[in-house]
Amino acid sequence: MNSKKRGKLVLCTGSSGVGKGTIIAELLKRDPSIRLSVSNTTRAPREGEIDGVHYNFVTREQFEDLIRKDGFLEYAEYCDNYYGTPKKQVNDMLNEGYNVFLEIEVKGGLQIMEKYPDILSIFVLPPSMESLERRLRRRGTEKEEMIQKRLCEAEKEIGYKDRYKYNVVNGDLDAAVNEILDILHNEVSNK
Ligand code: 5GP
Repeated sequence: MNSKKRGKLVLCTGSSGVGKGTIIAELLKRDPSIRLSVSNTTRAPREGEIDGVHYNFVTREQFEDLIRKDGFLEYAEYCDNYYGTPKKQVNDMLNEGYNVFLEIEVKGGLQIMEKYPDILSIFVLPPSMESLERRLRRRGTEKEEMIQKRLCEAEKEIGYKDRYKYNVVNGDLDAAVNEILDILHNEVSNK
């Protein structure tokens, strides 16, 4: 993309299991101006996850080394693992004119809103806590203890939803994707 206009930074937060990954995959298919930032994490890959595509899977030593080098836009510990957004990759994509989505949890989200007050912030909500629990179980990627931990984290995270400019409920995938595309296009044209 050759556009000189800097792209929009978009923060997308939502509890584990809310379907953010599916929403973002759909957004990437439907709008070529969108790019997803690939985070670094110390979590082990789930089955089917590819290094460099879903995450950059790194050791705690490698992660802490990049913290010392000031290489993260933000980072946080979530359920015993580090997750962070590499600075350079995001800046390069924004300079190329792409609208860059950060799919990150609340602690990192709050850090980034402080640093970039004009970030477009979206919180994705489940239709209910029961539906969230069902989705986490159906995914089958976490053990019971981790499911409980993630549900507990989800309750806490939802308490911050009003800090985000937009709240989108993911009841119907297509409706949620269309809503986010409308929000993005409105914000970009008002820039
Ligand atoms: P998961 O282990 O399910 O892939 O991710 C756990 C949580 O970490 C999710 O809420 C996800 O959005 C968040 N996350 C993923 N990448 C980052 C990141 O770079 N920074 C922060 N702060 N959170 C992230």
